[in-house]
Amino acid sequence: MSEFAVPAPVQPSVAIATSNARFPVRRVFCVGRNYASHAREMGNDPDREPPFFFMKPSDAVVPANGTIPYPSLTSNLHHEVEMVVAIGRPGFNVSVEAAPDHVWGYGVGIDLTRRDVQDQAKKMSRPWDWAKGFDSSGPCGALVPVSEIGHPSTGSIWLNVNGTPRQSGDLNEMIWSVAEIIAAISSSVAIAPGDLIFSGTPAGVAALNPGDTVTAGVDGIGEISFHISGVS
Ligand code: MN
Repeated sequence: MSEFAVPAPVQPSVAIATSNARFPVRRVFCVGRNYASHAREMGNDPDREPPFFFMKPSDAVVPANGTIPYPSLTSNLHHEVEMVVAIGRPGFNVSVEAAPDHVWGYGVGIDLTRRDVQDQAKKMSRPWDWAKGFDSSGPCGALVPVSEIGHPSTGSIWLNVNGTPRQSGDLNEMIWSVAEIIAAISSSVAIAPGDLIFSGTPAGVAALNPGDTVTAGVDGIGEISFHISGVS
């Protein structure tokens, strides 16, 4: 067996609420504009768009507690609270009907976004990667297995900054359901155990500042809380 030329990367993983085992992160898919209210606040028409996706590196996923560094290259770091879907079974071209069988569990995550970098990318028709895929850009709380909570399709999804409500919505406002999202992603690439899907954010995205405390949750799944550090 050959050895690696440099130290092999550490497998990114997420805590599991009901056990000491961890969920290994393979890939991180993110859905754009999946709540009508957020699509509108970003200046888009929610009725005309099929789902679209972008990705974060697997090691952008970090525990949603303690301190998250304020990233470089931005002065407009935005919070986007999202329900995170954890995939537990492989599949390609999965039907909407079969999609729930591929879900292992659910969590609460934040799609941290360098909004100024994203605005510039949109203006210049460039990719979003630098706006979305930076280090620690995907804080994620402990996952809850489907065996505990089933498949939540309604329930409050919210985010407070320093105790003040910023985002408040309901899972039932999602334009594309989790099953439809899985069907769409798996029509493009094969999904596999370890894949995470950030399923979109409701309205109210806004800037975070160094020193802020972020608290967020999804009813029935859990709550997360972390601080934003000073400028790095
Ligand atoms: Mn998002």
